[in-house]
Amino acid sequence: MPIYEFKCQACAHTFEELILPWKENAERTPVCPSCQAKDVEKVLSVFAVKTDATRQSNLNTARKAARKIKQEKDTEEQKQIMEHASEHH
Ligand SMILES: [Zn+2]
Repeated sequence: MPIYEFKCQACAHTFEELILPWKENAERTPVCPSCQAKDVEKVLSVFAVKTDATRQSNLNTARKAARKIKQEKDTEEQKQIMEHASEHH
């Protein structure tokens, strides 16, 4: 269900409006709930932005975790090499 964000050009009030599929051919631009002006501009799809932001956030978290695991693994390997080397001396 697409939710669009609108900004009123008259009073700068922003509001979200659900665009219903069966209203496709009707007047799609809502009126400002604050001042009733019809001079509103569609800003963006709130739903789409939230999804992208969440995905990006998850990706960054995953990358950070992967980097940390690699660093720990490298340190562990380095330690084992050092211990192994010292055994022969
Ligand atoms: Zn307004």
